[in-house]
Amino acid sequence: MAPSDDAATPPPRRLRAAAAPTVPAQGSPECRLAGIPVSPGIAIGPVFGAAEQRAEVVRQKIAAADTASQTARLEAAMAQSRKQLLKLRARLGVLPEDSQAEITPLIDAYLQMVGPSRLVRGARRRISDMLVTAETAVVETAEEIAAAILAMPASDDDPAGRERRAEEVREIARRLVRNLTHTPFRSFAGVPEGSVVICENLRPADAALLDPARLAGVATDEGGADGHTAIMLRALGMPAVLGVSALSQNAHPGDIVVVDGGAGVVTINPAPATLAAARRGVTAFARERQKLARLRRLPARTEDGETVELQANLEIPAELPLITQAGAAGIGLLRSEFLFMNRETLPDEQAQVETYRAVIESMGGDPVTIRVLDWGGEKDIEALQIAGVVPEVSDQNPALGLRGIRLLLRCPDLFETQLAAILRASVAGPTRVLLPMVTTVGEVRAARQLFDRVVRRLRRRGDRLPDPIPPLGIMIETPGAALSADALALEADFFAIGTNDLTMYTLAVDRGDSDVSALYDPLHPAVLRLVQFATEAALRLRMPVSVCGEMAANPRLTPLLLGLGLRSFSMNASAVPRVKQAVRAANSDDCVRFARRVMEQGDPESIRALVLGQPGGD
Ligand code: PEP
Ligand code: MG
Repeated sequence: MAPSDDAATPPPRRLRAAAAPTVPAQGSPECRLAGIPVSPGIAIGPVFGAAEQRAEVVRQKIAAADTASQTARLEAAMAQSRKQLLKLRARLGVLPEDSQAEITPLIDAYLQMVGPSRLVRGARRRISDMLVTAETAVVETAEEIAAAILAMPASDDDPAGRERRAEEVREIARRLVRNLTHTPFRSFAGVPEGSVVICENLRPADAALLDPARLAGVATDEGGADGHTAIMLRALGMPAVLGVSALSQNAHPGDIVVVDGGAGVVTINPAPATLAAARRGVTAFARERQKLARLRRLPARTEDGETVELQANLEIPAELPLITQAGAAGIGLLRSEFLFMNRETLPDEQAQVETYRAVIESMGGDPVTIRVLDWGGEKDIEALQIAGVVPEVSDQNPALGLRGIRLLLRCPDLFETQLAAILRASVAGPTRVLLPMVTTVGEVRAARQLFDRVVRRLRRRGDRLPDPIPPLGIMIETPGAALSADALALEADFFAIGTNDLTMYTLAVDRGDSDVSALYDPLHPAVLRLVQFATEAALRLRMPVSVCGEMAANPRLTPLLLGLGLRSFSMNASAVPRVKQAVRAANSDDCVRFARRVMEQGDPESIRALVLGQPGGD
């Protein structure tokens, strides 16, 4: 909930909350609306309409003499916004730990934006240059920044990231405008227990303080699957469907609704049969959750006693508590890009040491695999360009350009700094170093030479290093690497199979392009054969091999991957319990037989039918 701090402002206008009825209103027909499933679980309850009064801004010019007073208004709104956000952050303490870990960084980002940020600097300039009111200056500057973020080159693995960053800027602008115009914030105080919150749009800051113990669920007209609001609702474990068009027009306060967060369906005034099915769904979901939670302490071992390593992928340190809670045995892929993102300068060696050390220490002796910078291609390289480390990168075929190891070998200073930082941090616990986007043996040799040089330099300097030094492994994520896996296995200390890029490059399908997304198929026999070839090359040399692409996170693919001989998987933390469940239900001989049958198939459809149980299903 965004706090209504301004005691002088009237209470927010909202739809009247009716007393919670236990049966649907007589005679109202059932109405099913589809949206985006963002947080699983089923909620049944009366509608609480959380409408919010809009803060309208009409473009307004001012006289030159008024710039000082408009700037003062802006400063006051910043101070008030800051106070509200600090209060909001203090209240996060009541949330479960994993929710706090998700939400705190966002509130911190907001706090930064109400400080001397690009938004505030731009708005101040606009007041004096364009002679407009503070609210006009804020809205226009925010729009300019959001448009610049959205126009940045698309990131292949996080297409929603730019949308989110743009939305953060707009969100903080809305807060400033609300404070400038004294428009009240939405309040959830007094929401009847067990209600379902329905509104057009829910800000991440609103979602942050919804009380999952009091509220049944959430559904909104707007919003997407990967926005911060969705991430927070998932973190809170609150059933939610977003992006349900015309929802708030159809759902009235007091109507009974069923929100099915797994299926992405909202049913208003459910018929008795729908209601009964939803109630059964609630019970089944609770049972499933309890079962998964119990798995945390159980070993990831097949029915016939084969031990399987289940680790987590980490993209930002805020995920660390989730990783521990999920029962992951370490980090199988730390994507170090976060250290270089959203900034205009490069992190120095010491800053990197501290970040890596904190992650390694938090794993309490479980191994951490740190992938060196996988930048280039569609990923944003703003900091590298500003620092003059890399040339202006061509936007032609970026995925086939200066990416990953290619870029690092061109920029030895950047590469050596990162390797030195990882080596220094690795005294804190078991660590491995992973090279992205390898295609040739020569790249691995060149990287190892550089790695050894850094080790010698650090030793000369008297830095403490672990003994032995961390293994140096490679991602198998290009067909070139997969098909020369036998030769690469002689150079690398371990393989991590990245099925996301491997699928993209094998099938010539951009993993971020929705026009061809139907063709993006990790179950294509060509992809599976490459996975098999690389796995066998590693196993022949008894070299560690894991899968860290999205394939590893799908429990329905676990028997196939086990049958191919894989025993190590890294995935988003929330997928660990389900994959563990699949491992524990598997028998390794059956998996081998099953994999053999799958690998005999020549077309993706029959593989899909075998693996997912039905043609076209997933
Ligand atoms: C992959 O390509 O499968 C992988 C794990 O790397 P990323 O998703 O970071 O490109
Ligand atoms: Mg990749």
